[in-house]
Amino acid sequence: MAPSTLITGIGELVTNTDGWTALTDAALVIQDGTVAWTGPAGQAPAADSVVDAGGRAVLPGFVDSHAHLVFAGERSAEFAARMAGRPYQAGGILTTVAATRAASDGALRANLRRLAAEMLAQGTTTFECKSGYGLTVPDEARSLALAAEVTGEVTYLGAHVVPPEFAGDVPGYVDLVCGDMLDACAPNARWIDVFCEDGAFGADEAAAVLAAGRARGLAPRIHANQLGPGPGIRVAAQAGAPAADHCTYTTDEDLDTIVSAPLVATLLPGAEFGTRHPYPDARRLLDAGATVALATDCNPGSSFTSSMAFCIALAVRDMRMTTQEAVWAATAGGARALRRSDVGHLGVGARADLILLDAPSHAYLAYRPGVPQIAAVWQSGHPTRHPSCSREFLLSVRGTCSEEQSRWAINQ
Ligand SMILES: [Zn+2]
Repeated sequence: MAPSTLITGIGELVTNTDGWTALTDAALVIQDGTVAWTGPAGQAPAADSVVDAGGRAVLPGFVDSHAHLVFAGERSAEFAARMAGRPYQAGGILTTVAATRAASDGALRANLRRLAAEMLAQGTTTFECKSGYGLTVPDEARSLALAAEVTGEVTYLGAHVVPPEFAGDVPGYVDLVCGDMLDACAPNARWIDVFCEDGAFGADEAAAVLAAGRARGLAPRIHANQLGPGPGIRVAAQAGAPAADHCTYTTDEDLDTIVSAPLVATLLPGAEFGTRHPYPDARRLLDAGATVALATDCNPGSSFTSSMAFCIALAVRDMRMTTQEAVWAATAGGARALRRSDVGHLGVGARADLILLDAPSHAYLAYRPGVPQIAAVWQSGHPTRHPSCSREFLLSVRGTCSEEQSRWAINQ
């Protein structure tokens, strides 16, 4: 049995074991990569090593269920133009498609790993990663092979946008997505996704793509109702998807579908921030009884943030979610959107993916927006905040340093 670690002196321990659940003056024991015990600090069992959280908060690692990380190039000029008043159109994706096709495997891998490391440093311990900027058989296949190097939650998004060589022949491209491209991509993917939107793929095309994926063992995901009302949420429910992503424009009928299917409504406020679209009505979804997840939609066009903390702050400030609802949505909500029961909470038996926040409460994520507050991150029980971070390092943090030095050390 591997050595155990006791994290004690936790000011607020968010466990999410029964909806939003948080303990004060708490402790947690990690053993064999999982959570072995949680409870009051005064009742904690002995362990092989001890980390004193010094009154800081501990949360489950963030679960980002929607990200597009395999790409080349950048579109800051497009963002700046949009902020200056030009509207966003889905066609901007083609800029990234051209850059991605032209990039070497090494360049794509380096960009992907940089973003994956950026996510981990900000407390995201589980993330989904889509293809969708290759849009040829070899470029989609290599995108998924690269994604599979950094996460198990790999999504085939050949149906992101119709590439220029298929302009005017959407059925021809859908045949490719459901045929040779799917054959090449399925071995490295768990999920299949489609951008169901005016200017991308309609209801019948989206349903056909998801059905083809399902026949190859890929579970459905969908970009739904982002830029306007549409059929995406209905298609998600009919396909048996766990979630519908975006849900920015939802009718009463869509809301009923989300609640009754049920679908996790995955909200991506970074996209509304980056496009100046109105935010989704999270309050209406929550008040109707919907399960809400928050994700970054990290991509170089509409939402180039990898920060779940930023999304939490937007959700609290601009979408009227409570701080508890937003943090739950960014952890347990994301796990549900990915059909994962081992992450997103810190119940006994959960994967020991956790964040030590350099603050006494989860509320600081929204209360101090834009401020780095992730002191340390454990993934499967291993400290990962630094590539070189060892358990001994964390132990030394409070044991041998002055308070000022220790705060400096764990924040590096
Ligand atoms: Zn997306």
